Amino acid sequence: MNKKILIFIIFFLLFSFFKSHIAIASEYASEVFSKIRTESLDAPESFGSYSKGCLSGGRYLPSHKFHYDALKPSRNRFWGHPNLINIIEDTSQKVYSAYGNGLLIGDLAMPRGGPMPYGHKSHQNGLDVDVYYQKKPNYELQRFELETYQPKSMLSKDQTSIQNNLWSEYHYQLLKIFADDERVTRIFVNPVIKKNLCTQAIEKNESSWLKKIRPWGGHYKHFHVRLECPEDSKACKNQPPVQNSDGCGAELDTWLKKEKIYESNSTKIKKWILLSDLPKSCNRLIE
Ligand SMILES: [Zn+2]
Repeated sequence: MNKKILIFIIFFLLFSFFKSHIAIASEYASEVFSKIRTESLDAPESFGSYSKGCLSGGRYLPSHKFHYDALKPSRNRFWGHPNLINIIEDTSQKVYSAYGNGLLIGDLAMPRGGPMPYGHKSHQNGLDVDVYYQKKPNYELQRFELETYQPKSMLSKDQTSIQNNLWSEYHYQLLKIFADDERVTRIFVNPVIKKNLCTQAIEKNESSWLKKIRPWGGHYKHFHVRLECPEDSKACKNQPPVQNSDGCGAELDTWLKKEKIYESNSTKIKKWILLSDLPKSCNRLIE
């Protein structure tokens, strides 16, 4: 073959190869990950951080079990690392045996994790789950109800205090059951709810478990349970460990002085995370 033609072909092939890789890397990760409807078939592993990560070998949480119902199945966000699925199943059974009611579960992660196009900043590596404060009704919710059921807010209309007719010792114990589980690293609740837990725990002289309960905007219908990186996930990034304090002092007061503690900043869409911003292993999951 003519040498010039050969060089031209090689340049053309190299150019096409890099061009397609650059195009893939600059795509919005949420758009790519949200279109994938199935889990990857590799071994379970969480990659990266809670807000910049992905999940291989995800397990799904069935919509119904005797002890829980998982809301809004059409969102396809009922996937997680096996540790997350196990903790939901274990805890809902524990709650049922102790209190006679099941749990209402919200979003976990998408089938292969990754950034979501709306609703959450984290929930990306299969280790986050939202749990509603409201108890599961004592019947199995039908498909339509799973999509439309609206759990109640635990806060008053002006968002400054707890609704005492809804909040009970049950909620205190529910959060404590999750927090006492060593797989759980943090639980996010509204600052007004944290304040209420502080008052109750200090009265009972047992506030040390509150170190895992972190104040955050929003989180008045549900609380957010976060697991630490599993042993099988070497490329998973933990957050720094929580400090050894109940967090009922100055930090909480700062939160309570904020104007809109009922807003969560998670609703600001993180659509602009690019595939190239995620750990390399995440790119392998979408090939
Ligand atoms: Zn959440």
